[in-house]
Amino acid sequence: MDFFWQSRVLAAVPGVVHGVSTRRGGVSRPPYTSLNMGFHTGDRPEDVVENRRRWLEVLGLRLDEAVFAEQVHGAEVALVAAGDRGKGALRLEDAVPGTDALVTAEAGIALAVLVADCVPILFAAADGSAVGVAHAGWRGTLAAVAARTVRRFAELGIPPRQLRVALGPCIRPCCYEVSEDLYQRFREKLGPEAVGHTRAGRPALDLAAANRSLLLSLGVPQGAVDVAPDCTACRTDLYFSHRAEKGKTGRMAAVIARRSAAGSLP
Ligand SMILES: [Zn+2]
Repeated sequence: MDFFWQSRVLAAVPGVVHGVSTRRGGVSRPPYTSLNMGFHTGDRPEDVVENRRRWLEVLGLRLDEAVFAEQVHGAEVALVAAGDRGKGALRLEDAVPGTDALVTAEAGIALAVLVADCVPILFAAADGSAVGVAHAGWRGTLAAVAARTVRRFAELGIPPRQLRVALGPCIRPCCYEVSEDLYQRFREKLGPEAVGHTRAGRPALDLAAANRSLLLSLGVPQGAVDVAPDCTACRTDLYFSHRAEKGKTGRMAAVIARRSAAGSLP
């Protein structure tokens, strides 16, 4: 695996490992070439398992430590514990149901969401005591899944000012044309930063900017929110893009975990 995306902000958090995979370095065949992480795409399940195993190994993690959300374009956040390890790792059917975001304070659990244009949002407490991940397309962004995730951290005693957040590669306004109606809904609910225009001047959404401004409005410090610059639809050489590839494509996986410290108590 020659490349994957990491955030400078999250890389500075002690004891936390994270990354967003690309489409390179896997075994899947076209149109899933090659590191497809999604079972629901129509790809061969055994290839998806091998891809996931390879990707987690790059991060020093194991597939049986991973937990995947079902992802229903909602805003439900699950608090994940040791007994959830392996959920959704080998099949879609036992992923954490009805959720688009996962949070845990336990070490040795790799939280994962799948994306191909939607924003993967990775969270960590600044001291490394808890981690989280969320999937935000336009529906999840409007439903404020990022805010619900921030609230779940607050319930664990971690206020927004102590969060570090990364928004991974997603579709950017250059390629994300939407209807005038959806453009207006986004603008009214989330402000002028949440929308933009395509290169041709058509109405577009800016999912990364929308989620960033939402996080800042909740009290996450400005320097604590990192945004990946790439547009997934502009870079189908490197990323899967649902929009650019007309739905026939794979998924990347955003993963974050507290590293299990050697010698620590179980
Ligand atoms: Zn683009």
